[in-house]
Amino acid sequence: MSDFEFDLFVIGGGSGGVRAARIAAGHGARVGIAEEYRYGGTCVIRGCVPKKLFVYASRFSEEFEDAAGFGWQVGESRFDWERLIDAKDREITRLEGVYRRNLERAGVEMFDSRAVLEDAHTVHLLSDGRRIRAAKILIAVGATPNVDAGLEGGEHVITSNEAFHLSDLPKRVIVAGGGYIAVEFAGIFAGLGAETTLIYRGEEILRGFDDDLRKALHEEMEKKGIRVICGDVFTSIEKNGAELVGHTRKGEALVADKIMFAIGRRPNTAGLGLDAAGVELSPSGAIMVDEQSRTSVPSIFAVGDVTDRVNLTPVAIREGHAFADTEFGGKSWSADHSMIPTAVFSQPEIGTVGLTQAEALAAHGAVDVYRSQFRPMKHTLSGRDEKMLMKILVEPESDKVLGVHILGHDAGELAQVLGIALRMGATKADFDATMAVHPTAAEELVTMREPTERVTA
Ligand code: NDP
Repeated sequence: MSDFEFDLFVIGGGSGGVRAARIAAGHGARVGIAEEYRYGGTCVIRGCVPKKLFVYASRFSEEFEDAAGFGWQVGESRFDWERLIDAKDREITRLEGVYRRNLERAGVEMFDSRAVLEDAHTVHLLSDGRRIRAAKILIAVGATPNVDAGLEGGEHVITSNEAFHLSDLPKRVIVAGGGYIAVEFAGIFAGLGAETTLIYRGEEILRGFDDDLRKALHEEMEKKGIRVICGDVFTSIEKNGAELVGHTRKGEALVADKIMFAIGRRPNTAGLGLDAAGVELSPSGAIMVDEQSRTSVPSIFAVGDVTDRVNLTPVAIREGHAFADTEFGGKSWSADHSMIPTAVFSQPEIGTVGLTQAEALAAHGAVDVYRSQFRPMKHTLSGRDEKMLMKILVEPESDKVLGVHILGHDAGELAQVLGIALRMGATKADFDATMAVHPTAAEELVTMREPTERVTA
């Protein structure tokens, strides 16, 4: 090992890479890390964190309206995009500082540079041409937004990367895509006052989520004034002065100031020297790994979105931690990719854990569905026409809860707690035996006595 400068060199200073670096250093390894942009990665710099701050900002318009039902007279409100961007940028800079300090404190040597692989043990830093030899290399470079390369006028569209730095809030926005990012940004733009359209190629938004929630979210988004177009895609984008006109396959010409594409993300593997090192990629360009995050090259490992397993920040963190403990801490374990609770910060929010109804049915043949859709207490006085939806899916024979799906306020917070219960193998009887917390919306989870229906395959 002694002819290596580092025991571990990490490429990519995002959630997975930073966690792995810190944990490995804590185990006594000599660790270096290279980041070409900003420490914190997509999640902190241009993903989850600024997105959630935008979500908070966008909710105030409804809060002001709702306040009237509770006796508040709220004066004229005005939104200042520049102030939001400044405040968000300050917070992101603070967080980036925290990431750097944590690495420093752990004794990890940081390199602000793009790094490419030259062989199984050598990394080339492009900032100063330095070559670093390491016993083990971890690739944690994440993913990058997809663009529709063949789309005529595609150069006029933005992705989530640019959405965080727009100079003004566009008056009219179209978001293309029907996944996490598309529905979250549609809610943000609409809440901030932009005329918002979402265009999605499939039959219903959020493919892969429970069908009832998909439909219910679609309806709620429309109630908020978002135009949701399903079954259509852009065929070209035309720039007409300051305006953009998006032509669709069904013949619509949609006009907007900004068109944002959120059509998935691809692993950031281009130009990384993976060929030179002999690292095998999947057809989609992801680094292929086993459950211990080992690539086809024994000294090279990969975690997070670049491996395209489950593309979520906490998963990357867990994978990085497991890698570091296994390789440097003498404690072998791997991240468990099952039963991952997740939230979509749409408006209303989605929180979900376990199988969807379709998945439960396919896996178990029969499922008891407990379903409740109701107006949350807050909206009795606010008068807002917004429903909350909760679904519990139960395996009839074992009584085991297979999945819980929630649409409504704080659904993400609930999903975290439900994740613990479902991981522990909770049964419907456990839910029933749990005392309600009153008055909350969540008490519905322990008070649904009879199944709404039993569905069989
Ligand atoms: P998703 O994979 O969630 O969704 C991509 C969407 O784009 C789908 O609706 C897909 O349609 C559509 N699409 C794909 N290709 C095309 C195309 N060529 N033309 C038109 N539409 C297309 O990706 P996102 O970009 O929304 O998010 C990326 C990842 O980031 C997610 O997988 C998620 O893991 C992560 N993320 C997590 C968040 C959270 O936890 N709250 C928030 C934001 C992101 P179809 O369904 O038909 O394939």
